[in-house]
Formats: sequence, structure tokens, C-alpha cells
Amino acid sequence: MTERGHVPPELVDYDAERSRFSWDAAQAQLDGLPGGRGLNIAHEAVDRHVAHGRGDVVALRWLGKDGSRRDITYTELSESSAQWANALDTLGVAPGDTVFTLLGRVPELYVTVIGALKHRNVVSPLFSVFGPEPIRQRLELGHGRVLVTTETLYRRRIAAMRADLPELDHVVIVGDDPAPDGTVHFDDLIAAADDAWTIPPTDPEDRSLLHFTSGTTGTPKGAVHVHGAVVAHLTTSHYALDLHPGDVYWCTADPGWVTGTSYGIVAPLVHGVTSIVDEGDFEAGRWYDLLESERVNVWYTAPTAIRMLMRAGPDEAAARDLTALRLVASVGEPLNPEAVTWGEAHLGLPIHDNWWQTETGGIMIANFRGTPIRPGSMGRPLPGIDAALLERDPKGAIVLDDEGAPVVVTEPDREGELALRVGWPSMFRGYLGQPERYEACFVGDWYRSGDLARRDADGYFWFLGRADDVIKSAGHLIGPFEVESALIEHPAVYQAGVIGVPDPMAGEVVKAFVALRPGHEPNDDLRLELIGFARKKLGPAVAPRDIAFDQHLPVTKSGKIMRRVLKARELGLDEGDLSTLEETS
Ligand code: ATP
Ligand code: MG
Repeated sequence: MTERGHVPPELVDYDAERSRFSWDAAQAQLDGLPGGRGLNIAHEAVDRHVAHGRGDVVALRWLGKDGSRRDITYTELSESSAQWANALDTLGVAPGDTVFTLLGRVPELYVTVIGALKHRNVVSPLFSVFGPEPIRQRLELGHGRVLVTTETLYRRRIAAMRADLPELDHVVIVGDDPAPDGTVHFDDLIAAADDAWTIPPTDPEDRSLLHFTSGTTGTPKGAVHVHGAVVAHLTTSHYALDLHPGDVYWCTADPGWVTGTSYGIVAPLVHGVTSIVDEGDFEAGRWYDLLESERVNVWYTAPTAIRMLMRAGPDEAAARDLTALRLVASVGEPLNPEAVTWGEAHLGLPIHDNWWQTETGGIMIANFRGTPIRPGSMGRPLPGIDAALLERDPKGAIVLDDEGAPVVVTEPDREGELALRVGWPSMFRGYLGQPERYEACFVGDWYRSGDLARRDADGYFWFLGRADDVIKSAGHLIGPFEVESALIEHPAVYQAGVIGVPDPMAGEVVKAFVALRPGHEPNDDLRLELIGFARKKLGPAVAPRDIAFDQHLPVTKSGKIMRRVLKARELGLDEGDLSTLEETS
């Protein structure tokens, strides 16, 4: 038997587990602050383990870009984060103030996040590749009082606009370079700080993290989260990521995105497992090496990374011993059925898709390790989560019944807007500076996700597309994902983005933009072949009418296709907010 067989899955009887589940019982698995002083993420994630004698377990295994390694135990993380909490106090930073980070994946990022939560600040990690303008917008919107960054990033991105950020009182520099004028060095603050810190009373509703959405559909929104979310981080990663004591776990998302915080920092720490923190960027061969040499048990990644592994070819995977892997999960974009089966063939495990959003704070719908996977489906709602499809009218408003309650789609396989019954602990509590927009997300007891989906007779949800992206052609509702998935099954296609373009007869027709794999030439023959291939798979009503070749499809820095940008370019319209667009050469 391989190693992966040794740990029984956490969720096997789906219905029984759902009916057994309660959020109160889930919360009771956590300690709460000593003396009944509330619930604080940092205590549950770090100090709790130390208090229970697990302080020597490695919390973070940091792998530096230069090949260096550093193991940081729970005790060490507890002490250094206490020092950072004391340093914030010394700086005169008040609870509730926002602490931003603009850092690569370095240990100080994790210390800063945990320490600021201990000090009851709101923490907002920014992705380190943002340019000056996106940084300025976010710092301004979030009323950033402290920014932790490096000397290079400060010099290149911040120094020139510092005067435009009057609320930014403290810039703290991490790394070997000295702190420039107007900044202080992280190491100096830490060296002068006590390593004991008592977390002040924290209400579960106190603000904890501020995360900006990916900007796929428009200007990124700042979603505000609370300390009580830690209960959802505990349970969702128990069910959907199957985390167990002793696990080596690797989440590839950068903490600049919600996945990299909820599941790259909080959830693994709450479970007391060892997290890999890889400072380096994606490189297929290196990632395979890392999975093998670190004996990673649970791996949480994204379709864009899986596509890149697939592109690297089967030999890369075949050369590795990946038997330590027990679960591979993916989030962020639809996971094409082809990727699920590729995982089975080449990693020895299928890939488990799951669905959630910055706004939901945690995984809501998933394929579980212990239940059958339906390739192409996002899976079923987690215990504690009620998901439904709400009926939309042609203008996109939710249809209400006579009592004013939203109409829930009950027949299988019919589309509706994916909605979640409010009340799960990690739900966002606001869009920063946009109260009306926040209010507009709710109808009756439901939070509207803005995504369209179908549910099959067995309760599995199938992603159709974002409501804004869905194409209406000659009376058909076409999800771009369905068309993109069909196209990428063709051996020449690496990635596809599909939009509707206006058409006098059909309302809209489907147009696909396609990036090719190495060794394939864009030409008319291939265009016709791809259209024929899609027609065979999808039928003429759904297949693209036109295909354009584009090796630089617009994607977000987190790897999501920006269909709104494809559409704006096609129609000659304003491309809108491009702060999260990945720069391509
Ligand atoms: P913005 O809200 O700024 O347009 P965004 O919606 O991409 O950006 P995120 O919160 O990072 O920002 O992403 C959530 C969205 O990602 C979901 O609403 C959904 O459209 C998509 N998504 C996430 N996971 C999946 C999945 N497993 N399958 C399909 N789509 C997914
Ligand atoms: Mg969104």
C-alpha cells in the first residue's frame, strides 16, 4: 500500500456528515482566548498549539529562492509574532488600524500577519508584483497606517508617492538592506520588542483581514473579514483539504490573494500542520521536485498551474515519486475535466475542484477525497453551507415570489445564480467604501455570488460562468467555460478565452481566443479544424463561430482569463481597471 492509503478520508458519508454538523460544535473545537476573552485567529492558529504542547512542530518550512531552507516552529512563530505585536504597540498603532504588507513569500510576511492579528489590526497582504498605482489605490481605500515591505519595493514603488498617502504613518523595511529615510527596519523593531504578548479581548465580529478581489470582472473590491472566520477555516480545510496532524501541506497561492491567506496561512496553522512556503516562482520541474523531495501530502493549487504542469509533458511527472501525495485540490477558475483525469494518470490522483470567492472567505463547494468526483463539477456544498440556485429574470434581477422571497430553482440541470444562505462564519462583512454594493449582494436569506451554475439530480454543482460572461445566442444560454473546456481538449490548444460578440440575427455569437501549445502554427487550416472540433463536441449552436489566435491572452496575475478585456478589445471599448492584469512580454 502507498503512503496515501494510510489516512482515512475525513468525509465519506456526505449526508450524515451534513446533518451532524453545527457551527457551534465546530467552534467548540477551538479554544477561544484564555479567560473567555473572545476568539482571535492568531491564538487559534499559533498560540493554541504551543499551549497544548505542540510548540516544537514545524509550522512553516520556508524554501528561499537562493536554495536556503528555514524551519520555523509554532513556538518560534508565536514568539516572533508577539514581538511584532509589541512593536506595533510601540509605534502607537491602534487596534483596528490597517497594516499592509507588500512582500514576497518571506517568513516576515507570516510573522507580520499573525502579529498584527494578535494586536487586533486589520491585515491586508498585497501581491508584491503590483505596480505603484494599484498599491496606492489599495493603501488609500484601506486607510493603510503601516506598510511592511522591502527596501527595493519601497524605492521603486512607494517612495515617490509617499506624500500622497498622508494616512501611511509607518513604513517598515524587511531584508538585508538598510531602512531608507522615513522608514524603520523590521529587525530593529523586533530586536527591541518583548516576546510575550497577551492578546487583548477580541470579539468574533472584530475585523481581521482585508482582501481585494481578483479584478476579473471589474475594479477590485476590498472584502472585509472578521476573526470569527477562523471557525470556517478550521472546518472547510478539514473537509475539503483533508488536513491531518503530521501533514506536509503546500498551498501555491500567494498571500496577496485570499487563497494564500485563508489556506496558505490560517487554515494549515489552525490544523497544526507543516506548511511549505516557497519563495520561488512557478517552474514546472522545480515544482515537481518540491512535491517529491518535501513529501507533500496535501497540495492546493489552481487550474493555471495545473495547465502549466500539463504543458511540461508527462515525462516530468513520471520521473518523480509522488506517493506521499494524498490529495490535490484546485480553486480559482473552472477546472477542466481533462485536468482531473490528467491528474489521475500523471500524479496518481484525480484533482479535486472546489469553489469559493474572496467574499466567502473559505471553501463553499468541493469534491471531497472520500466521495466520488464528477470531473468538470465543482462538487457539493460543505457541511454547514447551504447553496442554492436562484431564478434570474432576463435583466439579471432575482425573481421574487408573492411573499417577496427569492425563487429557488428546484429542477435538476436548470441554471440559476449560485447563492449561499447567509450565516457561515467566514462571510465578508462589507466591501470597503461601497456599502450599497455590499447590500446589493443579498436577497432574502441569500448571498448572491454573481456566478451562474447548474445542479444535477445528485446535488453536484456545475459552473456555467460569471453572470456577466454568459453568452445569449439565438435563445441559448452558453457558458464560456463549456466552450473553453472543449477547445483545450484539442492537442494544439493551451488556453482559450470565449466571449459573446453582438450579432444582428442571433443577439450574440460565440467567439474564441486561443493560445497554442509550442509547435503549432496559427493559420486558417488550424482555425477551421478547431471550429470543426468544437462543433463535433458542442454542436453548431454552442461552438464558436470565429476563432482568433492570441498567444498573450489577458489573464489576472492569479491566472484567471479576463474575458471583459477580450470583449473590450474586440469591441473597441475601454478596457477598464487593469491593475491585476498579468504583464506579458
Ligand atoms: P472580481 O470579483 O474582482 O471580478 P474574481 O471574482 O475573479 O474578481 P475572486 O474572489 O478571486 O475574484 O474569485 C472568485 C471567482 O472565481 C468566483 O466567483 C468564480 O467566478 C471563480 N471561481 C473560483 N473557483 C472556481 C471554480 N472551482 N470553478 C469555477 N469558477 C471558479
Ligand atoms: Mg468576484
